[in-house]
Amino acid sequence: MPDSQSTEKVFPVMSAYGRFPVTIVKGKGSYVWDDAGNKYLDYTSGIAVCALGHVPDAVGAVLKKQLDTLWHCSNLFHIASQEKLAGMLTDLTCCDQVFFCNSGAEANEGAIKLARRYAHLINKKEKGHIVTFNHSFHGRTMATLTATAQAKIQDGFGPLVPGFTYLPYNDMSAIRALEVDDDAIAVMLEMVQGEGGVIPADPEWVSALAEVCQKKGILLMVDEVQTGFGRTGSLFAYQQYHIEPDVITVAKALGSGIPIGAFLAKKEVSQVFTPGTHGSTFGGNPFSTMAGIATLEAFKKQHVIEQCRENAACLNEKLKALKEKYPDKIETVRGKGLLIGVVTTFPAINAVNRLREKHHVLILTAGKQVLRILPPLVTQKDEIDRFIYALDDVLKNS
Ligand code: PLP
Repeated sequence: MPDSQSTEKVFPVMSAYGRFPVTIVKGKGSYVWDDAGNKYLDYTSGIAVCALGHVPDAVGAVLKKQLDTLWHCSNLFHIASQEKLAGMLTDLTCCDQVFFCNSGAEANEGAIKLARRYAHLINKKEKGHIVTFNHSFHGRTMATLTATAQAKIQDGFGPLVPGFTYLPYNDMSAIRALEVDDDAIAVMLEMVQGEGGVIPADPEWVSALAEVCQKKGILLMVDEVQTGFGRTGSLFAYQQYHIEPDVITVAKALGSGIPIGAFLAKKEVSQVFTPGTHGSTFGGNPFSTMAGIATLEAFKKQHVIEQCRENAACLNEKLKALKEKYPDKIETVRGKGLLIGVVTTFPAINAVNRLREKHHVLILTAGKQVLRILPPLVTQKDEIDRFIYALDDVLKNS
């Protein structure tokens, strides 16, 4: 029982995060500033959110205008910007309809609901399960943490949501298991497992997976929350795998930092959502959808995906040179585009801390021995050089 007698004042924010000892108060482009005026090169991009860098002018100009026009309007009315953004997203993907929400977890939660309703109404399967993969990450709501096949994410939150099973990622035994599974209604996967260690899906495995899904009428749902919007060198990572998912979930980079998420589906699937079946007060509101429109327009105008590919080629080449230089410190460099994992032979957090403290460079980990590097897609060559110089120094001294 909580001690209701205690009058001791505690820190007013719950301790759900292990935070770095830095308070960020300002951002522009690839840089952020702390409350003491220190400037940091931000190669975390707010965990793959700030693809265009911090406070991008093109999005800022649109949002400043929107602030004087309309912030919120309920989904009981038509929202022009929501309809425009939905059209932009369907034109850019194999999907036909979009539902807007506020985050990645909410997008995946909605996709799970859509898959279940599709199974109930169309395939007449009331007891089927959704398959996800070991080391995946799909969010922190009850259904999405159940979909997340990692004990550390689920620990202490049972009972979990029924109706999920897990198979090994990048492993042909998963395909064989699906072939004999008559109860699977959907599979959900990341094309690059981000939180799980920056592990790209193997193309042959993905083709086999898509084929078995197609053959057995299992929905193929791709979680592009972290990989979406150019991060891997194509607008969506699935587009490099020559597959057509039935459902795609997005969030993070879509609003350049204004909270927005969405799930997209082919019309055969999306038709099962009829009025009253799903909802979100804020989902798709005028402010967030204007941020989405401005972001996608900036992507096109500034050739952001081409910039990502060039920057990724440059950064990867330099990281591979560091691997040659420090073979006892770096095991491999992996990932796709500017979602990069550097597997270390020592605790990755030590390098993350040293980079921040000594060089004012910010990166993340993805597990105990993986450095996760997520630059803005529009990072400049001199910033890449600065990052490599700092990492070289940290590796030399670690
Ligand atoms: N799916 C993937 C692949 C993610 O990487 C994340 C977050 O990191 C999520 C879902 C959850 O997104 P959010 O934190 O916006 O709920």
